[in-house]
Amino acid sequence: DEVSNLTVAVRIRPMNSRELLHVGSADVVGVRDKEIIIKSHPVGSSNVSIDHVFQYDQIFWSCEENHSFYSTQEEVFLTLGKPLLNSAFKGYNGCLFAYGQTGSGKSYSMMGRNMCEVEDIDCPTFSGITPRFCRELFEQISKLDKGCLCTVEVSYFEIYNEKIHDLLSNANNSTKTPLKVREHPECGPYVVGLNVEVVKTYEELRNCLLIGNRNRATAATTMNEKSSRSHSIFSIELCLSDEKNRENASRKSKISLVDLAGSERLGNSCNNDVKIREGVSINKSLLTLGKVISALADQKKNQFVPYRESVLTWLLRESLGGNSLTTMLATITPANTHLDETLATLRYACQARSIVNRARINENPHD
Ligand code: ADP
Ligand code: MG
Repeated sequence: DEVSNLTVAVRIRPMNSRELLHVGSADVVGVRDKEIIIKSHPVGSSNVSIDHVFQYDQIFWSCEENHSFYSTQEEVFLTLGKPLLNSAFKGYNGCLFAYGQTGSGKSYSMMGRNMCEVEDIDCPTFSGITPRFCRELFEQISKLDKGCLCTVEVSYFEIYNEKIHDLLSNANNSTKTPLKVREHPECGPYVVGLNVEVVKTYEELRNCLLIGNRNRATAATTMNEKSSRSHSIFSIELCLSDEKNRENASRKSKISLVDLAGSERLGNSCNNDVKIREGVSINKSLLTLGKVISALADQKKNQFVPYRESVLTWLLRESLGGNSLTTMLATITPANTHLDETLATLRYACQARSIVNRARINENPHD
């Protein structure tokens, strides 16, 4: 097998109380090695069930805490986040995306259970991939050779309706005009006027996270459903140079940790203009991201990669493809009440990996 720059993982969260209380609620997600098996019963045919089998690089089963298979926050970080950090020190760019319907565990995986206080960010149990990445980053910096110079720059922004809002800015986000993307001839696409903070310690970096998370939370309460309809991008740029070895060009790398907008389709209940416009641009970004990732995964074909079709992919161009590592974490619930969205998420994640899922029909005569 050739080494791939793309890792696709799935995480299954526990059923919530609403799902557990739902009449006829059932767990339809099975895990076998690196496969996910979904059991579904077509309407009106009780003796037929369809197994959908999907294959991924990693599967994190986080449904029952005290179970031996249970995947912790730490485990998810070590498997998906740490390799990105290690490769950043070698000069590679990278991206990690959390993809899934609203409520499936994207923010929990990326940030933690809560995210606005120091205790949340540093909670040993609930702290998510992003804060662990930040802590480990400074842990590794402290171990560098004395002659090695290292700078860390951070930005944190949201894309909502294809428009960019700075999460590190003090001004009230809703009153600010959105920021624009421009293309630098050498450095590629960038956001004009975006705050880029230089941080020297983990505590300073954590403070950026807190400011951004609080801005996100405020925006979500003042603007209904914004949080589920926006993408948030936390980027860390690492620059390493060796004092003793000046001929050695300095190494620069950028890692983006992305909590994507909810992948759910537009419901029938939200047929007003605003919602439809939001839905269209979200789907456009998620659709384009899927196209970009699968075009990159299929390098043999020398395909056209449609970066420019969405703000998200345009901005992340330098961290997607080439020598970059890309990781997709698809999050799902095991509850049958969300089966359609779960299947859509699993298919999206499979397409990204250019692997077609198999559908197998099981006829059970005893049912
Ligand atoms: P999303 O960001 O995809 O909308 P959240 O991350 O906010 O979803 O998760 C929805 C709810 O489920 C939250 O209350 C969260 O704490 C809980 N949750 C999500 N994933 C897990 C998990 N792996 N273990 C325990 N609780 C989880
Ligand atoms: Mg969320």
